[in-house]
Amino acid sequence: MIKISTGAKVPLELSKGTYALRFSKAQKLTDEFFNKISLQFTEKDIEPDVFTKTVEDVLPSKINFKIANSTKADCEGAVVHCLNPQNTGEMNSFKIFLPLNKYDNKISIYDTNVFMHEIFHFFCEIFNPKHIAKSVKLNESTFRRYDDFFYNEYLYNKKCTDIDALKNNLLPEVLDNMPDGEKIIFLQNARYKLKEEVYAWGIGYKYGIENQKIHKDLICEKIEPSDGREFKLGEKLEIVNCFLKEILNNARKNK
Ligand SMILES: [Zn+2]
Repeated sequence: MIKISTGAKVPLELSKGTYALRFSKAQKLTDEFFNKISLQFTEKDIEPDVFTKTVEDVLPSKINFKIANSTKADCEGAVVHCLNPQNTGEMNSFKIFLPLNKYDNKISIYDTNVFMHEIFHFFCEIFNPKHIAKSVKLNESTFRRYDDFFYNEYLYNKKCTDIDALKNNLLPEVLDNMPDGEKIIFLQNARYKLKEEVYAWGIGYKYGIENQKIHKDLICEKIEPSDGREFKLGEKLEIVNCFLKEILNNARKNK
């Protein structure tokens, strides 16, 4: 199992307790961060350094992270786990990919939905080091083919919106090919990630609107941020939950 260094997680006394408790701590930190970052917009763009400083201001302990430009990385935003180059058995920092303006490399008020979405993921991660360790391990194993292929291709993908096909064909098919123990790990991991995404999209949307409302004077026209509805994440989460329940019930019966 990979080690998560102290620079990539909050102290144990803050991360212990239930998953729901950690989740609500990440949400609280996200709200606190928004209140502070919103004040930094005296123009419609801010420097990445100001963003970094504001994240550091709300973090409960020292965490290593860097802001990177997502426009060059071909994604809207992402939070990436970085391994210690001196010791690849240890994860010791994060890279937070955010869209930076082409002309001045600043962060735009119009991308509030994206940076709030990613910052929520980042806060969830620092409270859940065990989940990071688990997902790094899964990604190193043969399990990766399911996670990479099925999760990215069907569950977290707006091209896959045929919920009936997912429920009746696609998911049963991929589960049929998995050993029983792996089915549970795969579904639990998918549930965890989908739930976080449902919230991240909701947070991005809410604060994307809010920041434009607060700074009406700075923007020329209001832009409607995406709420991620086209991914149908809530429906997919429900399906994953159903399958997981059934498999866990069967496993209990067969004990
Ligand atoms: Zn996300």
